[in-house]
Amino acid sequence: MASRYYMLLQLLLASPLQASEASGLPFVINTWGGVFTAATDAAYLALQDPATSALDAVEIGCATCEANQCDGSVGYGGSPDENCETTLDAMIMDGETMKSGAVAALRRVKNAIGVARHVLEYTSHTLLAGDLATQFAVQNGFTEEETSTEDSLGRCAEWKAASCQPNYRINVTPNATQTCGPYTPVPLNSTSPSYSSLIAPDAVTTSHDTISMIAIHSSGVMAAGTSTNGASHKIPGRVGDGPITGSGSYVDSEVGGCGATGDGDIMMRFLPCYQAVESLRGGLSPQEAADDAVRRMVTKYPAISSGIVVVNNKGEHAGAGSGWTFTYAFRGGSMNETTVVTVPPIDSIQSTLRYREQLQL
Ligand code: ASP
Repeated sequence: MASRYYMLLQLLLASPLQASEASGLPFVINTWGGVFTAATDAAYLALQDPATSALDAVEIGCATCEANQCDGSVGYGGSPDENCETTLDAMIMDGETMKSGAVAALRRVKNAIGVARHVLEYTSHTLLAGDLATQFAVQNGFTEEETSTEDSLGRCAEWKAASCQPNYRINVTPNATQTCGPYTPVPLNSTSPSYSSLIAPDAVTTSHDTISMIAIHSSGVMAAGTSTNGASHKIPGRVGDGPITGSGSYVDSEVGGCGATGDGDIMMRFLPCYQAVESLRGGLSPQEAADDAVRRMVTKYPAISSGIVVVNNKGEHAGAGSGWTFTYAFRGGSMNETTVVTVPPIDSIQSTLRYREQLQL
């Protein structure tokens, strides 16, 4: 009992430490520290030239991660799907016009955020998908090339040798926790057994990561964007939260912005970044808005791995996450280097109880 109270105390003490004062403009913030800080630096340094727009900075930052294959979870050569192919999801959003451009399940093109920017700038659409997004990319001068690497093909081969474990199939036969497909759906009203190999949260948490970035130009104009190669061993055709406006990221220069990472299959059901930005508009602080968006997901899915960064248009920021220790990076004003913030996971049971109490559920 004592340790439960101690954990709750730690949680209560930990939260305010995550929120940070504004460090000045221009400002860049993104999901994850470590290798992702090269993206923060690239975007921040680009903004030192006032001719570089917030959209340019987000594109430059995310493209840096794509080229560096950040953590194997952004860009080519990561998260092979069941067919061993790497496909990419990306979006970019203009906080002035609320226009957003995105690509989903983009095949054989490495610079997904660049193609998303072209969707934004050169079409009236918001989202292009699959092979036809590739066709658009090639028409716009992007190179069609292999997005698998020896490493990603090797990891896919290992997965197949391990009987395709884990995978995202449920309610199928043969038993997806034991064998590879092809699978046949089990009629849901039948008495046949059904199986899911992703019951263990670990199977999901090890296969997710994304760069989501928000930039504030020295003029106050904001932009946001997201780039990811999604979830390892996904079913071919799967699109995550990354290219979904309001889920992967969201921004309104009048209020602030948000970027997300985590289990996109669940997160996109909650539009956490739309939620957080609208909470800022309603008067919540960045920390309150981030906590609230994560708690809404944790309430329904206690095991979800999620992380979001929230920043208002002054550059005051905070993060919240669940299921893992999430980090985010920021650099603004005259900071000489990027700072990384560690965000402890919201405790699912306690936060759910507190959240329900607040809502009087
Ligand atoms: N959100 C990404 C997706 O589900 C991956 C991640 O950030 O973990 O596609």
